[in-house]
Amino acid sequence: RLGLPPHVKLVLLGDSGVGKSCLALRFKHGCFDPGCRTTVGAAFTAATVTVPGSGATCKLEIWDTAGQERYMSLAPLYYRGAHAAAIVYDITERRTLAKAQYWLEELRRYAGHSMVLMLVGNKSDLVSQRQVGEEEGRQLADSIGALFVESSAASGSNVAEVFEGVAGRLAGGMPVS
Ligand code: GDP
Repeated sequence: RLGLPPHVKLVLLGDSGVGKSCLALRFKHGCFDPGCRTTVGAAFTAATVTVPGSGATCKLEIWDTAGQERYMSLAPLYYRGAHAAAIVYDITERRTLAKAQYWLEELRRYAGHSMVLMLVGNKSDLVSQRQVGEEEGRQLADSIGALFVESSAASGSNVAEVFEGVAGRLAGGMPVS
C-alpha cells in the first residue's frame, strides 16, 4: 500500500509513435495539433490531477521517454522513484502490444520496486484501422494486475481517465503489482 504522495511520478512507456507525448500534452493543455507539440526531449510535464470521487489533488510528474525508447532500454534515472507507469500501445499496430509486454518486463527488471500500472490502448479514434481488440488489451491488463483504458489523444476520449485512474489507485491504497 503506497498511499497518495503529494508528488506522483508517472513514467510513460511504450513503442515510439504510440502517442505518449500526445497523451501528456492532451491531458496538460487539452490540445492535439502540431502547434501544441513541445520540444522533443522534455523530461517531464507537471500537471495537477484530481482523484475521482474524493476531490483530493496531487501533483503529477508525467515523464516522457523523449525518444529513448528507440534504444530498447531506458536510463535508470527514468524509473527511479516512479510511483506508477502507463504502458501505452497503439490499437492500430499489433506489434506495439508485444512491445508493451517488453517494456513491462524491462520495468520489472530495472525499477526494482512495486508501482501502480496502467495499460493504455491509444488511438481509439482510428476505428477502421483497429488491429487489437479491446478485450485483448483488457485481458493483458488483468494478467499483469494493471488498470486498463482505451484512449484517444486526438479526440480526448479517456485521456483524463489514464491519469486520474493512476491517482485513484494510489489514493485508494489498492494492491499494486
Ligand atoms: P510517442 O512517440 O509515443 O510520444 O508518440 P507521439 O505522441 O509523438 O505520437 C505519434 C504520432 O501518432 C503523431 O503523429 C500523433 O499525431 C499520432 N497520434 C498520437 N495519439 C493519437 C491518437 O489518439 N489518435 C490518432 N489518430 N493519432 C494519434
